[in-house]
This record gives sequence, structure tokens and C-alpha cells, in this order.
Amino acid sequence: MIILSPPMTAPPHRSPASSSTADLFAAACGHARRTAVLGSVESLLGWDEQTMLPRAGGPHRADQATAMAAVVHGLRTDPTQAERLAALAASPMATRGTPQERAALRLLKHDADKQSRLPVRLVEELARAAVEAQQAWVEARASSTWSALRPHLVRMFALKREQAACQRPDLDPYDALLDDYEPGARWQRLAEQFAPLRAAVVDLVGECGTAIRRPDESILTERLYPVESQRDFVREVAGRIGFDFGRGRLDTTEHPFCTTLGPDDCRITTRWNERSLPTALFGVLHEAGHGLYEQGLSREWYGLPPGEAASLGIHESQSRLWENLVGRSRPFWEWCFPLARKAFPAALDDVDVDRFREALLAVRPSFIRVEADEVTYNLHVLLRFDLERAVVHGDLAVDDLPAAWNDRFERDFGMRPPDDAHGVLQDIHWSAGLIGYFPTYTLGNLFAAQLMEAARRAVPDFDDQMAAGRFVDLLEWLRREVHAFGRTLESEPLVERATGGCVSGDWLVRSLRDRYGPAYGL
Ligand code: ZN
Repeated sequence: MIILSPPMTAPPHRSPASSSTADLFAAACGHARRTAVLGSVESLLGWDEQTMLPRAGGPHRADQATAMAAVVHGLRTDPTQAERLAALAASPMATRGTPQERAALRLLKHDADKQSRLPVRLVEELARAAVEAQQAWVEARASSTWSALRPHLVRMFALKREQAACQRPDLDPYDALLDDYEPGARWQRLAEQFAPLRAAVVDLVGECGTAIRRPDESILTERLYPVESQRDFVREVAGRIGFDFGRGRLDTTEHPFCTTLGPDDCRITTRWNERSLPTALFGVLHEAGHGLYEQGLSREWYGLPPGEAASLGIHESQSRLWENLVGRSRPFWEWCFPLARKAFPAALDDVDVDRFREALLAVRPSFIRVEADEVTYNLHVLLRFDLERAVVHGDLAVDDLPAAWNDRFERDFGMRPPDDAHGVLQDIHWSAGLIGYFPTYTLGNLFAAQLMEAARRAVPDFDDQMAAGRFVDLLEWLRREVHAFGRTLESEPLVERATGGCVSGDWLVRSLRDRYGPAYGL
């Protein structure tokens, strides 16, 4: 059960012209918060669908999701709210308010204008298509049957193109979709940032592949790590880095994610594999990193842009920073390895911290993105970025996706997926209508590497603190430099302000070389 606060009442009907600016602003914020509360009910339906829903409950869930989407869309396009925002945009607050007030006004108006350009019929169709496609995806992936998903993706890409044209007719259609996840980002700039990264990663993967020395990852993937022990272990690690279990939960799912159902209710999820410790451990470090960001956003501004995440790229920078830059570091394991040994005595009895930590740096091209190592991960993402863009731009037919996927995969990884479950069917994103989402993963890696270098400069005794299991100074730096800004800055200015450097892939390439080179004797 979710407690609705503030109570769900109709927005006050008051003539904007007769209200003072402060009253108008309070009314606009109240409306936005009520909308956010209803949006969080939609999120709750989504969380339940991914963790608990029995298969037969799918059709009714589609009805629920469709009904909620229409209600939320109604609130987001409420004409009274639009009048308030228009009046506020012309008020002195728009230029002389606090930075939070100005950002709240500007972004509420921007969002409302964008929403109002979407017909309610399209919003409902998108919600229904997403639920139906995701149900089909589960079956299609399990049986590796492309034909079971194909019609759903044809419909979804068509709906998304329609959405792009309605929502941002001024933008390239792919940029219009991308803008939902990474405000201000444009695909051409991303393509420029990503091209040198792709080349550098392909080189590094090649060097690791032919290196004489290589980490022994079998200790992580071929020994028995009982799931019950994993549950306790990953909970302890997530709690130590700062995830507040009093304001969040960890549950089991097929495709791990983090979602926030309210300022004090952040849900992270994982899957378990008793033969692979990294699956849940790094999955949870990743999702807890998202959770730390959500738990660090302003409660005072809940439901309003200063209390919202800046972008998905920034979100992903937080998860990747904890997963890879903290969780695969030597100092982290100085603290954590004794805990791991205690949790899994049979598996780790004959292993020392150095051998264990090197095993975490294994680079091994594989078919599945969510199981990819840190180095090859970006190649998986860039493949999806290029393919989905080609479909949106009309340069590639949905029918040709499986073959295009396999060809590109073979070029970048030197191997061809044995079936579509290991290729085009592996991700939920396109079925869920999340088109334009993938590039934010790699952006997150760029931002994370850059933020981590700045944090290292700012926090004294950085490595000693980690080796003592102390992460509070790093978390506080992130709270101050990233979380506190909410959505008041777009991602690039936010990262540049926090780090004092221009955003580029150089930091990530350097970080990968610095950490993986020694493990491979490069
Ligand atoms: Zn993530």
C-alpha cells in the first residue's frame, strides 16, 4: 500500500490573474507533486509487473497501466496548470527567483508544453503496446523466437516515430526521443564522443585477448556461491556504501532495475546465480548506486525538477561509479575480501585478495550485455545506439534487425550470436518503448570516470578510506556536487562544473588502461 501525500484533491480553482506570484507558484508546485504521486503509482505497477505479477495477470495489468497513463497524462496537460505556468513565466520569479525556483518554473513549463503536444490516444496506445510487447518479449526470449516479438517491435518503433514527430517537431526524430532521457543531448555529438572510445576499446580488447598474462576468473564463475549467503553478503555491501534499507528494498527479478516509488521508498532488484558471484554482487552495487542517487535527491523538492535526477546518463554515472570504479578497486577489496571469505568459505578458502581482485578484471567478449565485463560493455551499447538510430531514421527495417545485429556483433567482437536470444532478443528496452535510452549507458561511463577523478582529488586519503570500508566522504562529495543539483543543470554542464573539465571519452579510456593494463601485463 502506498500512502498518498499530499492528499489527492482537485487542484484549487482560482483565477491566475488574481493570485499573487507566491500563491501561483505554490499551486503549480502542488499540482506537480500530485502528478508525481500518481506517476509513482504507475511505477509501482511497473515494479510489481517485473517482480511479482503472475503470468495470467498480464492482460489486466495492461488495462491498469493504460488507465493510469491516461490519468497522469490528464494531469500533465491540465489547462489550469498550463495557465499558471504561463502566468509564472511572465512573472518576476522567472528572472529573479532562486535558482531552484527558476529551474522549477522553466522545466515544469517545458515538460507541460511537451506533454500537451502528445494526443491522449497516442499515450494510451504507447502504454498498452509496451505492456503487450514486454509480455511477448518474455516468451520470445525464452524460446528464442524472433517472429513472436517482431510485430510488437514494428508497432513500437512506428508509435515512437509518431511520438517524436508530435513531441519535438523541431528536432531530428532520434534526438527527440533521446531528449526524453538525456535532455540537451544530440546524437551527432554523441557519435563524435563515442567514435574514439569504440576504437580505443576494440584495441584494448584485442590486446587483452592476446596477452600472455590473464586473470583467472574461474574462481568467480565456476565455484559454488550459495544464494542464501549471497543475499546476506550483497545486502551488507550495499548498506555499507550507504544504501538505506530503511528507505528501500532489494527484490528478485529477471532483468535488474531500480525504481523509486516515493522519497522514502527506493526499490532495487537483482537476479541470483549460485555459480557466479559477480551476477548479483555487481548487479546490486550497480542498482544501489542508482538508489544512492535517488535517496540523495532533495525531499523538499520531491516531484519538482530540483528534486529530480538530471538525466539517465547522470543516473548511470552513479551506478557505474560504485559498480566499477569503487567495486573493482584494490582498496575496496582490502576491506571487502575478508567479508567475502567469511560468507563463502568453501569457494574462497584457497584464494587471496590479489588473485580475487584480478579475477574481477577479466575481459572476455560475451553475447549478453548485462553480463559483459566493464571493457567490452560499451561495444554492446554502441551497437544498440547505431541500430536503433538506423531504424528510427528509416535506414534499417525492423525485419532486418536480427541480421544487422549479428553482422555488427561479429565485426566488433569477432564472434556471431548462436541464436536471437543471445542477440537481438536479449534486452527489454525496445519492447518497453525505451528507444534512445541505450546511449545513456555509455555516457554514464564517461561521466563516472570523470567524476571519480575529481572526487579522488577532493577527498583526502581516498584509498585508505575505502580500504577501511569508509565511503561516506565519497558519497557526501557526490551528494554535494551531483545529487544536490537535481535537474537544475543539464548533464554536461553539471559534470563540467563538478570536475572542472570538458566532457570527453579520454577519462574513461585512461581509467580502463590504468586498471586493466596491469592485470594483463600490458
Ligand atoms: Zn543502470
